[in-house]
Amino acid sequence: MSDKPIYVTQPYLPPLDEFIPYLQQIWDNKILTNGGPMHQQLEDALSDYLGVEHIALFNNGTIALLTALQSLRVTGEVITTPYSFVATAHSLLWNGIKPVFVDIDPDTLNLDPSKIEAAITPQTTAIMPVHCYGHPCDVQAIQKIADNYNLRVIYDAAHAFGVQDAEGSILRHGDLSVLSFHATKVFNTLEGGAIICPDAKTKQRINHLKNFGIVDEVTVVAPGINGKMSEVNAAFGLLQLQHIERAQARRKEINRIYREMLKDVQGIHIVEEAGEAVANYSYFPVLVETDYPLSRDELYLKLKNNNIFARRYFYPLISEFPMYRGMPSAQRGNLPVAFDVAEKVLCLPIYPALNDCDISRIVNFVKGN
Ligand SMILES: *Cc1c(COP(=O)(O)O)cnc(C)c1O
Repeated sequence: MSDKPIYVTQPYLPPLDEFIPYLQQIWDNKILTNGGPMHQQLEDALSDYLGVEHIALFNNGTIALLTALQSLRVTGEVITTPYSFVATAHSLLWNGIKPVFVDIDPDTLNLDPSKIEAAITPQTTAIMPVHCYGHPCDVQAIQKIADNYNLRVIYDAAHAFGVQDAEGSILRHGDLSVLSFHATKVFNTLEGGAIICPDAKTKQRINHLKNFGIVDEVTVVAPGINGKMSEVNAAFGLLQLQHIERAQARRKEINRIYREMLKDVQGIHIVEEAGEAVANYSYFPVLVETDYPLSRDELYLKLKNNNIFARRYFYPLISEFPMYRGMPSAQRGNLPVAFDVAEKVLCLPIYPALNDCDISRIVNFVKGN
């Protein structure tokens, strides 16, 4: 059986002819970057869609994370999760900040708030949690600790586009939230990202920082970086946004089908939905438990040998990479849940173009057929 490869995700590409008018506008305007009309329109459209007041676009999520930390002048030590994509902790190292890893909650796979306090030292200035797989963190518990110890909270919300809790966007929590619009994410601008901030003044500072610190022709107020999103990327985002509802509806349906078909498979534990008001179904993580006939890696390889590229997100843990593994907080004894989950997790393919046949094929392999 020579089936086409199925990757863990596939970017949603609107019909090409729908992109041409956007390009025509850019050609007509002759503005390619530096906060042009497409950039402005996408900021407005996203703040509407997401239900947030202030959003600053970036050329990628990692530069947005770096800039978020700069904008709040975060220094010293920051408490974060080892169970994420490396960019989370790398953004701290690039700012000369020491990451301090704290274990995750076994149900939500997010930073475990009950373990944060023990990791706070006089050097701690902030917490950087991740809404892993788009499941909201325990934002109330985290804010309470931050308030008690006077810490900043910067959410790596790279997975959380469109996620809401009972009161609205999950992105309104903490001091800042950072999105990624990378090609592999639920909403993409090829490469891109954004910072959600609480007020116009903060956005102003972030806007300066993402443009070299330039205020006007003769004024530079900070050692800023080049974090600007181009007009072509912004235009692609505007077009994506036209299709987002339909794309999300299909993700939701795939999530439902997987849950139904896999619910009684021995040894396959489907990570619970967080009970949020609106999820984004960006990932479909399962844990391959010890009573499954194969090890996680055996199942991963079996799928791979059949052209199905499930991914072991997040294995290895960030804290296992050479630039982190010597740190006291990176030791296995400090992170028992994260180590355990990283050895069991497998993210199954989920994306709008995945059809029912593909899903059945994947499920059949998981069921051992
Ligand atoms: C994708 C991702 C990033 C990085 O975003 P880029 O836009 O690729 O730079 C950061 N954190 C997490 C958790 C991510 O998944």
